[in-house]
Amino acid sequence: MERINVTRPSLPPIEEYIEEIQGIWENCWLTNNGPKHQQLVTELTTALGAKEISLFSNGHQALEAVFSFFPVGSEVITTPFTFASTTLAIIRCGLIPVFCDIESDFYTLDPECIEKLITEKTVAIAPVHVYGNLCDWRRIAEIAAKYNLKVIYDAAHAFGVVDLGNNAGSLGDLSMFSFHATKVFHTIEGGCLTYNDPTLSKKLAAWRQFGMYDGEQSEIVGTNAKLTEFAAAMGLCNLRHFANQVNLRRSAVFRYRERLLSQPGLILCNEQQGVTPNYAYMPVRIKPEQFGCDRNAIVDFLMRQDIFVRKYFYPLTSDFPICRGNFSIQETPIAREISNQILCLPLYADLTMAEVDRVCDAILETAVN
Ligand SMILES: *Cc1c(COP(=O)(O)O)cnc(C)c1O
Repeated sequence: MERINVTRPSLPPIEEYIEEIQGIWENCWLTNNGPKHQQLVTELTTALGAKEISLFSNGHQALEAVFSFFPVGSEVITTPFTFASTTLAIIRCGLIPVFCDIESDFYTLDPECIEKLITEKTVAIAPVHVYGNLCDWRRIAEIAAKYNLKVIYDAAHAFGVVDLGNNAGSLGDLSMFSFHATKVFHTIEGGCLTYNDPTLSKKLAAWRQFGMYDGEQSEIVGTNAKLTEFAAAMGLCNLRHFANQVNLRRSAVFRYRERLLSQPGLILCNEQQGVTPNYAYMPVRIKPEQFGCDRNAIVDFLMRQDIFVRKYFYPLTSDFPICRGNFSIQETPIAREISNQILCLPLYADLTMAEVDRVCDAILETAVN
């Protein structure tokens, strides 16, 4: 039987990509804010409902750009239930991650836990739209306004997610989207920031170009984090297929739900009221007492059947060696429990219903109840 991976990048028809990059041989403009880059900015501004947008070589660099603008030693309230990047970006910029617990329906930052973590050193809240589930952004905005904090969303999972007309790209002070190959929309590697304050544009452009505003000298300690024309061209192609990709993913997710919803001990994520989802991931939480076997045993069993799932996110980033012992870390019991029970099942546009069934059969085989 064929191996089933947890994800698989989507690619446009090769002819479409060749057509898209043809112009690069004519103008010989390979990187540095070329025409493909500019066109992608225009198209993504619409797609993400953003006022302003800046592109980067990857999502992580985009996050670092933002965090690098705060004074060293400032505190950022964030979630430990995320990919390494969120926490790393904070630490690499000399800031202190303050870990806040999550809520158990959508695995996003629990607004009720934020206020007691705020100190005079707090400058920002950095929540994550985990699996494309939107954070409680209204409540977070209220808290941020009350304490004069910035809100920086890690929206790496939330491309195309819209809450009653509020696109993920319009929330908070800034949002970071990742265009990594495994994301629902990708540019091979790439990422962006969406934001409302137009005065940030020049600074972000300088940051990704060696800190240079005018091309002669570094005025801020930036880096090199530009998106190439080839990456932008991939994005222009993939944008045309995005809606279709989401539809295909949706079929797979609905099949998973149909097969797994009634199994005791398995908890699937509900859709959020009024939110248009992007079906980026297929998380399932396993409660070992009811299911009869724990998450790790399921992973091992599936692996023996050539089915590769992902413990995403495990461990908590607050348990990483870069954090333990280096920061005073608050216990986050909900995040810990979910991290021990969560599993992301294979999900991508080309996944067939037969493959979904094979994954479900294997999971249900491990159930005792
Ligand atoms: C993918 C991802 C990132 C990093 O994005 P890159 O484009 O790979 O640098 C950050 N945060 C989360 C939650 C992600 O899933």
